[in-house]
Amino acid sequence: MAQVQRMSRLMIKTLRDDPADAETLNHKLLVRAGYVRRTAAGIWSWLPLGKKVLENVTRVVREEMDAIGGQEVLLPALLPKEPYEASGRYDEYGDLLFRLQDRKGSEYLLGPTHEEIFTQVVKDMCSSYKDLPVILYQIQTKYRDEARPRAGVLRGREFQMKDSYSFDTTDEGLVEAYQLHRAAYIRIFERLGLDHRIVSAVSGAMGGSASEEFLAPAPAGEDTFVDCPNCDYAANTEAVTFTAVPVDGSAAGPVEELDTPDTPTIETLAAHLGVSASATLKNLLVKVDGEIVAVGVPGDREVDLGKLGEHLAPAVVELVTAEDFEGRPDLVRGYVGPQGLGKVRYIADPRVAPGTSWITGANKEGKHARNVVAGRDFEVGEYLDVVVVQPDDPCPNCGTGLRVDRAIEIGHIFQLGRKYADIFALDVLGQQGKPVRVTMGSYGIGVSRAVAALAEQTADEQGLCWPREIAPADVHVVAAGKALQTELALAVSEKLSAAGLRVMVDDRAGVSPGVKFTDAELIGVPKILVAGRRSAEGVLELKDRRTGEREELTVDEAVARLTAQG
Ligand code: ATP
Ligand code: MG
Repeated sequence: MAQVQRMSRLMIKTLRDDPADAETLNHKLLVRAGYVRRTAAGIWSWLPLGKKVLENVTRVVREEMDAIGGQEVLLPALLPKEPYEASGRYDEYGDLLFRLQDRKGSEYLLGPTHEEIFTQVVKDMCSSYKDLPVILYQIQTKYRDEARPRAGVLRGREFQMKDSYSFDTTDEGLVEAYQLHRAAYIRIFERLGLDHRIVSAVSGAMGGSASEEFLAPAPAGEDTFVDCPNCDYAANTEAVTFTAVPVDGSAAGPVEELDTPDTPTIETLAAHLGVSASATLKNLLVKVDGEIVAVGVPGDREVDLGKLGEHLAPAVVELVTAEDFEGRPDLVRGYVGPQGLGKVRYIADPRVAPGTSWITGANKEGKHARNVVAGRDFEVGEYLDVVVVQPDDPCPNCGTGLRVDRAIEIGHIFQLGRKYADIFALDVLGQQGKPVRVTMGSYGIGVSRAVAALAEQTADEQGLCWPREIAPADVHVVAAGKALQTELALAVSEKLSAAGLRVMVDDRAGVSPGVKFTDAELIGVPKILVAGRRSAEGVLELKDRRTGEREELTVDEAVARLTAQG
């Protein structure tokens, strides 16, 4: 039986005002309600109530990982750099890695994720196909020197992650481990009460093939995803791919040059010619590993540099600067057209399909050209879907207009394949007596981020509003103030605790009932039980934090009601 948590002895200080630097709801409320405290940018201390919530999330994650046969381990966060050099990630991660040296000058890093180290552990421990499959997991502190640590614990530079890794001898085994994780994640997020979507993702620096993200829709999210109202298609916007559908361009007239003085932007051009932006072809110049490349997209669309970067990785994509035009008379800034680009590599969005006809730059200052036809007047070197997805873009599955929403990435599952096994020569002896290369999956859940995501999804104007399984207590008993009321509050608290409930009681002396009620709403325990006006008769008021519904109950009725909710 857990101790009743008396607020008079709890280290808590609630704040009436939002912290000055807080932009997101979870940041404001978790600080104001005394769950977390900022120690440095992106580095957070978890206070007593916050630690309880974090523990509850951890417990759910642990139970469901154990249920799929995961074995919990704990690997270090302080790591030698050699394995990450072997995989190439020591460089690939760039500024995201925290790097440090020991007293002898040997180099280390603080682990951002642990594929390399798990591969080495399994290489040490498993030598035969009989030792596999295994699923290993840890719930551990990760370090990433994020460029924009923001939104409180949603994006920390130090944060808690559950990371697991599966090791199999066959591709079917990997798919099975992946499906087990997928199902476990669904159960975890359902138990946490997190509204979530599973979307196909790009795998980024991890490499590997199949990969899905678990996204929690919330305005504070930094990910955007699309969702089809008609079929089950859902994807990270960076993973949406539209395919080029050629059209018949034979009716287009010959290329015609147009006088268009002072029209270096699509807006000025469209206004000057009285056409819509979608009739024009915009050619963005970028540098890919230092080489100038043109990217063609319809004039009404924006290039998504993230998507472009993902497509071209590991090459580095940068925007061009004025200096890049020096000594390049072939590149007329603001008037570039693909028909005169010579050897410059030309990437185009699939919407610039063969046969489509465009108004675009004429590669001369102040001039544009019309009837410039893809495949006739210029060749597209490579089609890549690189535009920012817009609401109503056609679903790649069924063509219905897509919805676009913001979300928080709370989990990510990857079928890595043999990338790391190849790097570390991870083989086991197979059934036929020959070595077999192992295949891997890696799977993450942002445990501390899940707390923030839950806060974002469940809070209201009054404050936090936790689902019961995650809340720091099942019931928050409030003693309005008088001695008699405090006595009743403490008595009912003991009874509730004896019945197996987690109880917090506001027995603080010298704090007004108004402040206590406001704090109870802010702290967000799902049931609030008040010993108030009718305490002398032994009657309490039970309030549901979410719905605001109230009812008056005797002590025994309150105990029965609260335990029945299980
Ligand atoms: P993001 O795109 O948000 O930076 P990521 O794709 O780099 O995340 P993964 O490498 O997939 O993250 O890590 C697994 C999980 O860890 C993520 O799904 C997310 O829930 C969590 N996570 C990642 N970075 C952070 C962070 N800086 N703070 C808190 N949680 C994080
Ligand atoms: Mg991810």
